[in-house]
Amino acid sequence: MSRLLRILFLTLLLTFTACSKDDDSEDGGTPIAGNRLSTGDSARDFLSDENFDELVIEVVYVEGYRPTDAALNNLVQFIEERCHKSAGVELNVRSFPSPNIAEFNIQQVDSIEKVMRSQYNLGDKMALYVSFLDGKFEDDSDDSVVLGAAYRNTSFVIFEETLHRFSDGINEPDRFLLESTVFRHEFAHLLGLVNLGTEMQTDHLDTENGSHCNVESCLMNYRVESGINIPGMTSEENIPELDSQCLADLRANGGK
Ligand SMILES: [Zn+2]
Ligand SMILES: [Zn+2]
Repeated sequence: MSRLLRILFLTLLLTFTACSKDDDSEDGGTPIAGNRLSTGDSARDFLSDENFDELVIEVVYVEGYRPTDAALNNLVQFIEERCHKSAGVELNVRSFPSPNIAEFNIQQVDSIEKVMRSQYNLGDKMALYVSFLDGKFEDDSDDSVVLGAAYRNTSFVIFEETLHRFSDGINEPDRFLLESTVFRHEFAHLLGLVNLGTEMQTDHLDTENGSHCNVESCLMNYRVESGINIPGMTSEENIPELDSQCLADLRANGGK
């Protein structure tokens, strides 16, 4: 049995609007404007230790949709492999009640962030925010779904209910593997891939599916087909890797 459904990895760009004072500048004395920029704007800050040598990952999930610890640890491992954060990468995980939204648009995802997020860049410590929601993306159709989206410079969202629907069933990939693949893919957009704040060293942009890599087997391919459409996939070796061109881009922008 082969799955015809296309699982897409979208990059949704929110336009940063400057200087909305009560909105983005201060929150209880904490400056938050640095975490309200566009996808890719903080690529070098993630990759290098010029401004931050420490990272906190704030994970908030709707009750019942906690991601697997193994996949979260796999994301930490990926970050440590690519980013200079010698003072450490820390996970901060908590749940919240369902917002009771069946289909999310990206503005709603961003509104939830404004309420739920508590960690912002501070001193030498950079903050990443990841939310896990109990609904689907509004543009999902019968033949394509969105599992995650990188929508700001230090934020991405996972549609965890959709991810549950397409993992751990007969002829479906293991949940840990699907989660790990999606987490790595979305985070790599925040690292500026492809041509999204991290300059390309060679031309490997998939122009039809913007901000993705044209190498089919690469983690940053827009479908990551080789990784997630293999029935019964259970080995960690099945997580797609960044190809040599994506890796060269990250290294040229301060990464490992
Ligand atoms: Zn993508
Ligand atoms: Zn690539």
